[in-house]
Parts: sequence; C-alpha cells; structure tokens
Amino acid sequence: MSEIEIPLRVVRVERRCANALCVSGKMLPSGNVSVSLGEGSGPPMYEHKCGHCGRTQKFYQTYPFTKYVEDKEDAPDIKTSKGRQR
Ligand SMILES: [Zn+2]
Repeated sequence: MSEIEIPLRVVRVERRCANALCVSGKMLPSGNVSVSLGEGSGPPMYEHKCGHCGRTQKFYQTYPFTKYVEDKEDAPDIKTSKGRQR
C-alpha cells in the first residue's frame, strides 16, 4: 500500500497594511480588479483597501485566504491512530 495520510491544519492568511503608521489595519478586497491586456500583460490584480487608514494596494490574490499546512512538531497531540513514532 503506497497510500499515506498526512494530517493538515487550516490557517488563514491575512495581509496587514503596509502603512507604518497604521498598526491595526488589515487589507481587504475593495472589489476592483485590474486586468491588463496585450503585450506585457500579467495576471489580474486585486485592489485591497485598509479598513483602518484607507490605503489601497494591489495584490495578485485576494486576502484573507485559507490554506492547508502540514502538521509538524508544533502540534504533537495529533498522531496517527497507531501512535507510531516518527
Ligand atoms: Zn492602514
């Protein structure tokens, strides 16, 4: 059997405001998307706006997003059902 099961945990990735004077701001999608066509075009960019100071910035993805990361030693309580050692 070559199937293996890897426990994962879910994390949310947030983008903090790049304004040094804005300590608590988080960047959230403003709803505007930039798409450039023709030569030199790239992937769409999503405009975000800081909920605290109103600064806008464009990213290639929207924040926040969730992703799965492998469980490492920082979560020792999650083991396989057999309780095998690594
Ligand atoms: Zn801000």
